[in-house]
Amino acid sequence: MAENSAGKVLLVDDSQQAREVIKDILRDVFPVFVEADDGLTAIKAFVEERPGFIITDIEMPSINGYRFISTIRNMDDGKDVPIIMLSGTRDSLKKKLTGFNLGASDFLIKPFEPEELLARVKSLLRMRHLMDELKEKNALLEKLAVTDDLTGLHNRRYFFETVREQLALGLRHNLKLACMLLDIDHFKSINDTWGHVAGDDVLRKIGALLASCKREGEILARFGGEEFIICLFNTDSENAGRAAERFRALIKSYDFSSVYYPAIKVTVSIGLAVYPQGSLISIDELIKAADKALYSSKVDGRDRVTLYEWSSTDAPRREEPVLDR
Ligand code: GH3
Ligand code: MG
Ligand code: MG
Ligand code: MG
Repeated sequence: MAENSAGKVLLVDDSQQAREVIKDILRDVFPVFVEADDGLTAIKAFVEERPGFIITDIEMPSINGYRFISTIRNMDDGKDVPIIMLSGTRDSLKKKLTGFNLGASDFLIKPFEPEELLARVKSLLRMRHLMDELKEKNALLEKLAVTDDLTGLHNRRYFFETVREQLALGLRHNLKLACMLLDIDHFKSINDTWGHVAGDDVLRKIGALLASCKREGEILARFGGEEFIICLFNTDSENAGRAAERFRALIKSYDFSSVYYPAIKVTVSIGLAVYPQGSLISIDELIKAADKALYSSKVDGRDRVTLYEWSSTDAPRREEPVLDR
């Protein structure tokens, strides 16, 4: 959906003369004026032109200013648009209160001083600007909270939040899901030989490789240190095994050489666990199972994929059944 345009103001008044007066006052503030002479035309103009500011009269034919405001405030992109209401003096307190209750940002009684309208418009624009800045900052903070600094991938927190949600849904809809844990082989020796900066570089490259190879809908995250995690949905062990093999082969065949270090060989070991299986029901149990399989990959010589197979000795001891934790 297109953003509302900050430089566009919608003037709603059944008197053309009144609209001309307002245009004269605000010519230096808004480059574009959209005009409407009743509420219905104004709603249409709002949808089509997406103005970032509204000044509206109350008394108008067909849909009046009150109904116009409440319609705008009920629209998704009409919630934050500053709206100034204008009205004649009769019953002005009652009108003001009704207007504010419906969501007007400000109210002016006709006739008004041009300077007052100008000052109120500028003050609302300043507030709007601050709100936009705050929204942007919040969006950035939200993104940072779920992003891994080094690789730019999602972090562990995002992984747990998202997969828990999906697993809760899956429990109700017989979802099949696979959890893949990847750990770089002998990563410490890369750090030890070529330095931490080279190690960081390898981590970033692997992150980008995994991101490029993962399919839409799969959840990928840096799980910590030199470990990555991927969750695949609607997949059985055979398909998940193929996917894991694809990731493993991609990393093994990639040319990691850089001006800072030679063409080092990097491989990963992978542990894979699928749900449903045995009595695994929480994401924590699924990850534990994948970690067990990863350990087997390491012990068996690294650079390989191992699929976790459930055995009754793995059954977690529970006082009572726990659904997703
Ligand atoms: P294995 O094949 O058994 O997994 O051996 P490994 O050397 O990969 O495993 P180990 O757990 O002994 O060492 C992991 C190393 O990863 C140690 C740690 O310093 C390094 N590491 C963890 N996070 C980072 C990071 O952000 N940057 C760099 N450069 N190194 C990291
Ligand atoms: Mg009127
Ligand atoms: Mg590790
Ligand atoms: Mg390792």
